[in-house]
Amino acid sequence: MPITVLFAAGDALWADYNAALGTAFSEAELNINLVQQADPGAVDYIIYSPGSTLTDFTPFTRCKAVLNLWAGVERITGNPTLTQPLCRMVDPAMTESMVEWVVAHTLRLHLGTDTHVLGQDGVWRQDPTRPTKIARERPVTILGFGELGQACGRALMALGFPVTGWSRRPTALTGARCLAGADSLDTALSGAEVLVLLLPLTPETENVVNERTLSLLAPGAFLINPGRGPLIDDAALLAALDAGQVAQATLDVFREEPLPADHPYWAHPRVTVTPHIAATTRPVTAARVVAENIRRGETGEPFLHLVDRQRGY
Ligand code: NAP
Repeated sequence: MPITVLFAAGDALWADYNAALGTAFSEAELNINLVQQADPGAVDYIIYSPGSTLTDFTPFTRCKAVLNLWAGVERITGNPTLTQPLCRMVDPAMTESMVEWVVAHTLRLHLGTDTHVLGQDGVWRQDPTRPTKIARERPVTILGFGELGQACGRALMALGFPVTGWSRRPTALTGARCLAGADSLDTALSGAEVLVLLLPLTPETENVVNERTLSLLAPGAFLINPGRGPLIDDAALLAALDAGQVAQATLDVFREEPLPADHPYWAHPRVTVTPHIAATTRPVTAARVVAENIRRGETGEPFLHLVDRQRGY
């Protein structure tokens, strides 16, 4: 009897995922009937992504797990009809992509590359008396030291940046200063010259970057946010940019997406906006993660990347 898997992640993703999931299921020797429509009572697993038209999980009485294609789950954890186990996506290719994006923007801001790349105006700005800093002189703090935060931390340390990582529970990463818990937030931020946000959005993390916490950074710090928009109090960031406390911000995620055309971030000379493209789930590698979780569900092994509803991530 085949396992029925409902693909509730939208038509736009169907063609790519249909092919990738077919391959992954067959590699995992799973007999799967992958469908876009089904009698809810017959569905064993749901593959889901935010923006799906599926909002009521109540009729899926046989469903053993909802497998989210996104790493962030804030748009689904609050759904009261979702009582089935929920797994988030940890996709190795997405992690690589996030590392590339974070390293690229850290280096861009660290080296001041924009000055030379943008708006060349015929002025020779070499100043041999003020060499640029090297990486080991530029402390980086990463709020959210999980899958993505630690991968970025490793890559930045390999380039020489001193890295501090902040998480909820104690963690360890060789070479990094690892801090945990609300009591150590101020220590994590104090004197940071680059702040990278890779926290999930939960009631505890919303507005973690605010007037008070921004004031703890080194004057003229750089802020990089590929986490979630509401981690930042936008008015406080704009004020810190105008005061020079934050020299530049590179933002990939926003409270409202797409970012409205009249939002001050678009026009701000020291803000770079990217349209939530830091790291996208890749069908081939993500399909293997989905297949592994279905295999686990069928053999009674614990699911990978299970979301804790109490924590919200
Ligand atoms: P993860 O492995 O769950 O890591 C989350 C980290 O945040 C963990 O270290 C966790 O601490 C920490 N954390 C959560 N709540 C906290 C709190 N209240 N105080 C201190 N630390 C807290 O998640 P991930 O896979 O790295 O993904 C992180 C986020 O990146 C996602 O939730 C999503 O919002 C974002 N993202 C963005 C993109 C993009 O394209 N822009 C792509 C993928 C993901 P513990 O280790 O103690 O649990």
